[in-house]
Amino acid sequence: MPAPTTIRELRVRAVRVPMAEPHRTASGVIQESPLVLVDALTDDGVTGHAYVFCYASLALKPTAGLVSALAPLVVGQPLAPRVIRQTLAQRFRLLGPQGLTGIAMAAIDMALWDALARTQGLPLVRLLGGAPRPIPAYGAIGFDGEVESARVAERWATRGLGGVKAKIGYPTVAEDVAVVRAIRRAVGDDVAVMVDYNQSLSPTEAIERGRRLAPFDLAWIEEPTLAHDHTGHARIARELATPIQCGENWWGPLEMRQAIDASACDLMMPDVMKIGGVSGWLEAAALGAAHGIRLSNHLFVEVSTHLLAMTPTAHWLEYADWFNPILATPQTLVDGCATPDERPGSGIEWDEDAVARYLEA
Ligand SMILES: [Mg+2]
Repeated sequence: MPAPTTIRELRVRAVRVPMAEPHRTASGVIQESPLVLVDALTDDGVTGHAYVFCYASLALKPTAGLVSALAPLVVGQPLAPRVIRQTLAQRFRLLGPQGLTGIAMAAIDMALWDALARTQGLPLVRLLGGAPRPIPAYGAIGFDGEVESARVAERWATRGLGGVKAKIGYPTVAEDVAVVRAIRRAVGDDVAVMVDYNQSLSPTEAIERGRRLAPFDLAWIEEPTLAHDHTGHARIARELATPIQCGENWWGPLEMRQAIDASACDLMMPDVMKIGGVSGWLEAAALGAAHGIRLSNHLFVEVSTHLLAMTPTAHWLEYADWFNPILATPQTLVDGCATPDERPGSGIEWDEDAVARYLEA
């Protein structure tokens, strides 16, 4: 039997990728994407790639430093991502698996899974026992008012996407209603319309506003209140007929289980980074399947396309192009759907010229 592949080196880089247009939400404006890039080099010459999103630029260097500090626990070990994940989780038992520690662990996990798929010559979806299949994608609409929101919605629908999701949470419910009405008018009845409050309401306010949005047949209302307030979300979900969507801010499968236990929401959209990388997603996919809950993703389009394709209760792919500038082969959409391709790995190749341009000194 051949010796197992071992991890030879972890390379860590920090980049600040400018946004084509500033991304406005009810919780603030995002101007650039601070990303940590990880390359996992193996002793058989294969390199796995992954990136993580630090949200705030001030977290960029600390996150990169944390990933580098973990390298001695990983280098020289067999290429077994789930075993490495256990090792790192144990090391962080007291500090906790949330925040930057969770992001650093996920960066390593995703790079190792990418390397493993490449050593096997398989796309990640096939390594995990699935097969490529098209996942319907929806497009994002920023916190941009009635006219601009309708214009962007129409642009997505013209591109063939079957769904659009708008940021709302304007000062008054009348403005929320006006934006949603304008979007519905722009795309017609056959395109799914979702809204995202980005945690900006109290549960009581969310119930009041949700009732006013009922006539527009929304596919979901996302994060109406604080992401970790499972009880508050459960109250909202009980009171509203419109499905409630949560999950992008949950730290690990355990928090997803707590949300399920609390009946916090009808639909779930784990973020592959915050849920614990590919290893965490596999647990989330199993929880979703066991409870019959439909799962969508949050950002991380390439790896999420592979993961949704093997997820039994896969729902929608959130399409976003924020990180495309540093990717040599960003995920493409055909007929409004994303399908993982047959190249080995999880679909991530760097555009090294762009990486060099945006590199944090
Ligand atoms: Mg969201």
